[in-house]
Amino acid sequence: MGAPGSGKGTQAQRLEKQFGIPQISTGDILRKHLAEGTPLGLRAKEIMAAGGYVDDETMLAIIRERLSQADAAQGFILDGFPRTVAQAEGLTKLLAELGTPLDAVVLFEVNNEQLVKRVSGRRTCEFCKKVFNVNFAPASGECVPGRTEHSLMQRPDDQEDTFKERLRKYEEDTRKPVSHYYAYTGLMRTVDAEGAIDEVTQRLLGTLKAGGGAVAPVAARAAKQKRAPQRRAKPAARKAARRPVRKAAKKTAPKRRAPASGKKRKATRKVKRKSAARARPARARRKSKR
Ligand code: AMP
Repeated sequence: MGAPGSGKGTQAQRLEKQFGIPQISTGDILRKHLAEGTPLGLRAKEIMAAGGYVDDETMLAIIRERLSQADAAQGFILDGFPRTVAQAEGLTKLLAELGTPLDAVVLFEVNNEQLVKRVSGRRTCEFCKKVFNVNFAPASGECVPGRTEHSLMQRPDDQEDTFKERLRKYEEDTRKPVSHYYAYTGLMRTVDAEGAIDEVTQRLLGTLKAGGGAVAPVAARAAKQKRAPQRRAKPAARKAARRPVRKAAKKTAPKRRAPASGKKRKATRKVKRKSAARARPARARRKSKR
């Protein structure tokens, strides 16, 4: 689960490679229908262009059909599904039927400002389908055989107005209600999905490893492989790190008063004399008056 542009597709593709299980992206499935001009594609076209959701029944039918394929028998990563509570309920029933319960539900969190930057710069090569970002990850690497350059296109639903609607829809129908649906299952993991792609992958693997379920041992191995070797600090540095830190005394210069003006100085002296007189015993004061 994650807002458009939160990087769930990118991370799902990485998990796909590491775990050897397919990434099932409902957005990709719908885009394929759209490109092939199937009746579903034609129906979904307008909904997707407006930033809406395709109906739950259709989405559940798509998932049921996809999970029945042989490559999903060892496991799968659902990307962009479920997006509504009805889809989540349908998925629970379907997985119970198939005898393959979920191991984890991951929520990707990215602030809205970052999402706008990511989505406005996102481009896909129309030939090799690789995804780049003009702001963070410009086109590189090989395209399909016979092509020397990528041909970058912007997804129509990544344009500002549609993107805003997708974000609104995500907040309303997905983020809160669906994470609430899974909150009591103990499967929810929230990942801070800001920062470099590699960092997010490490956080994701870390959180999968920490959780229970069948995915934990595989994720633990994958995270160990990826982790960069950590240098041990020198003995002196280690000792210093153990020493308690004492707060340094504040070294602020004593405040100086601005010199008083002549009139003010006289007034101050008068007040001082009066208060000194009041401090003297009454008898002494009478004597001095005489
Ligand atoms: P995505 O590539 O995941 O951002 O999906 C692109 C668009 O496909 C979404 O904005 C929706 O219009 C549609 N879509 C994808 N997955 C679903 C889903 N699970 N339920 C409803 N609509 C979906």
